[in-house]
Amino acid sequence: MVLRCGAAKEKISPPNDVGDTYIAGYLTMEAPKVKGVHDPIHARAIVLSDGDQKFALVSVEVIGLLADFVNRIKNRLSAYGFSYKNVYIFSTHTHAGPDTMGLWGPIIGKSGINEKYMIFLLDTIVEIVLEAEKELVETDIYVTKSEIPELIENYRIKENVDGNLLLMKFLSDENLIASLWTYTAQPEITTRENLSISADYPGLVSEMIEAEYGGTSLFALGLCGAQSPIYCEEGFDKMDIFADKIFSEIKKIYDDHKKIKISPIEIRYREVKLQLENPDFQLLYTLGILDREYEDERIKSSVSKIRIGDLDLLNIPGEPFPGLLSDIIDEQDNKEIIVLSHSNDSIGYFIPKNQWSLKPQIWVDDIVDGKFIGHETESIGVKAGQIIRKAIKELFHYKTVLAIGPHADDLTIWAGGTLIKLTKEGNDLICVRITDDYADCVGLTEEKGRRRNKKETERAYKALGAKEIVNLGYPTDTLYTADYHELRGKLVGLMRKYKPDLVVSFDLNGNDEENMDHITTARAVNEACWQSSFDLFYPEHFEEGLDIHAVGERYLFARNPTILNFYVDITDHIDDKIKAINYQKTVMENWFYQNKLLARANNLYVELLEEDVPNPIRVTLLVKLVYGEIGEKYGVKYAEEFNRIDAGMLKDLAED
Ligand SMILES: [Zn+2]
Repeated sequence: MVLRCGAAKEKISPPNDVGDTYIAGYLTMEAPKVKGVHDPIHARAIVLSDGDQKFALVSVEVIGLLADFVNRIKNRLSAYGFSYKNVYIFSTHTHAGPDTMGLWGPIIGKSGINEKYMIFLLDTIVEIVLEAEKELVETDIYVTKSEIPELIENYRIKENVDGNLLLMKFLSDENLIASLWTYTAQPEITTRENLSISADYPGLVSEMIEAEYGGTSLFALGLCGAQSPIYCEEGFDKMDIFADKIFSEIKKIYDDHKKIKISPIEIRYREVKLQLENPDFQLLYTLGILDREYEDERIKSSVSKIRIGDLDLLNIPGEPFPGLLSDIIDEQDNKEIIVLSHSNDSIGYFIPKNQWSLKPQIWVDDIVDGKFIGHETESIGVKAGQIIRKAIKELFHYKTVLAIGPHADDLTIWAGGTLIKLTKEGNDLICVRITDDYADCVGLTEEKGRRRNKKETERAYKALGAKEIVNLGYPTDTLYTADYHELRGKLVGLMRKYKPDLVVSFDLNGNDEENMDHITTARAVNEACWQSSFDLFYPEHFEEGLDIHAVGERYLFARNPTILNFYVDITDHIDDKIKAINYQKTVMENWFYQNKLLARANNLYVELLEEDVPNPIRVTLLVKLVYGEIGEKYGVKYAEEFNRIDAGMLKDLAED
């Protein structure tokens, strides 16, 4: 695989013609107007393309951007082929930029957002992404890192400092096309009285990297919650010194890099609904000063992970305290993890439960014994941190998925999009076909039907992303009369062998199912899911070295199901699903043929079922029609739906 990279940057200091902007300083509300520019602020973009999909990373030197504004940018970029989940926009959190969140209004109760400036910002970001895309050249990725804890003060827990400095280099031959560096001290060196635009130390360091090595240098904050620079609010002279110290460390480690494998590239994305417990924030959202969707005291945001080979870029929508995630990150041995805070959203601090104070201080002036405990007032609540933590944990957990169908086309048609999504997110898929599909063909011998269907199905399952394919080889449409104890035992054996976190198969809750293979599969699979954790069932497995296994989760599909409680948006995967189904030419031909006979028996003529419409077109139309209708139910373009079974009532009993 070849990865290509391009980069671009542009100034985003407020132009004169947008009118007044308000400085996003250290105190919110009644903010003064911006006056002049000390050092210009920039937006910088990297675009990556592996030929199949493209990604945009954008670093913006402003205080923060709310998800609704980020989504406006994503909408614009989607017209240029950037999918929603492949665009990452992070703020550097400088307190010497214009208000881009609304919290720094001229008077209490009035947003400080200048909509003209926001349109300028939006246009500029879209422009640099498109410009970066024009510059794509083949690239290799390298990472180098160090720690500079001595430049940081953690006012809450002195010893809890995260001083990680990371530099990701995108090289084409010997040339630096772009870089992405992260550090964990909040940019808070400009003074409290400062009114002039400044990118603070990150901007200075990025400029130094660009001047010394070339390319475009993006900055993102790492695990920065509660972490101030040692020269907190001491002004521009100290800012220069601070930037020099960081840059000299970067120079030291610059060549000591490790090459990153560029394959596989996977995106994992989790939507989160964060509870808004802080009454001050509730008011800001209710008044619309923070301009975003807000429902049932919850705000919607997201966490995501971009995996490039052994490297993970972790996108977090605010400022996590080091203690919130450091243990999860430490667990990922042999992996480079780069945290991008303020990514795709800016929600405030995420504080671990064991550090949460019920009596937070109000202002920094209240520092007692060098300690400050006041971040709670800038956090939406303790629950938000726990939800973020759980979602991040899930991003690192790769599932083993065991998908079981009696026939060649069951998995591709009922769940193909979902299985593709799961494998694209890095999960392992094992596909099991219980029967041999010898009869699922038109005008062929049994032997030919069996052979073709096996070959075509293996191709289709590989297209779903299957790591392994298991053929149990029962003659098709005989499962009802087959030895049930033996069939279920084989399935229990597969559960014990592959230890799936998730099983995808037929559901018992289907009405008017007239295929006994489907019904028998539903019975046997769902029974095997719990029997596999009993140590007295099929004990012969234990002699083979297998162990009991409990299946956590099931996605079940059925014809005319009575229970549907879960859907998967497959819009991004519909074309791949169709591709997989089209590999199963023999089965699909028979499907169209059988349905043509049924139509004729009802004196109907259905153009789509006639052989003069080629197979790929018929399949495409049919699949888009059926899964488009399901998508419509859920407000997405295409979806698959399931009866999802998990721990059920145990979740209520479980303690967090
Ligand atoms: Zn079937």
